[in-house]
Amino acid sequence: MERTLSIIKPDAVAKGVIGKILDRFESNGLKIAATKKLQLTRQDAEAFYAIHRERPFFNDLVDFMVSGPVVVSVLEGENAVAKNRDLMGATNPQEAAPGTIRADFAENIDANAVHGSDSLENAANEIKFFFSGRELS
Ligand code: GDP
Repeated sequence: MERTLSIIKPDAVAKGVIGKILDRFESNGLKIAATKKLQLTRQDAEAFYAIHRERPFFNDLVDFMVSGPVVVSVLEGENAVAKNRDLMGATNPQEAAPGTIRADFAENIDANAVHGSDSLENAANEIKFFFSGRELS
């Protein structure tokens, strides 16, 4: 049993597809252990994506992530990290396999609908970044 962090990004929240995306998780064997909608501050977004600080798209990424509310969720299930990444599809929606969240709900690599932890170790850190123990028991 694993836990992973999902973020429904501002583009997908603005489009009104929170429910459709959460349904993809539940319909594919991932339980929503916790979820909430919130507005990231610039400081939040910079800290969350600190690993990308040196990348040329860092400022665009931070601007995008604070452009509107997001929905953060903890997903739980067997192989949750890899399963969520499979459901999300490739980072660039143009390259995402048909039927994946990014193929169905994202426009481009800047606004690609969802984030998902890419390893069990990052998942644990990302979950701690957003959720307290009380929210997750
Ligand atoms: P992910 O794990 O599939 O989300 O991909 P990465 O960890 O490689 O990148 C993190 C996020 O940075 C992506 O989801 C995109 O939102 C953004 N990103 C990645 N590459 C680019 C790029 O070339 N341009 C822009 N604007 N954003 C990018």
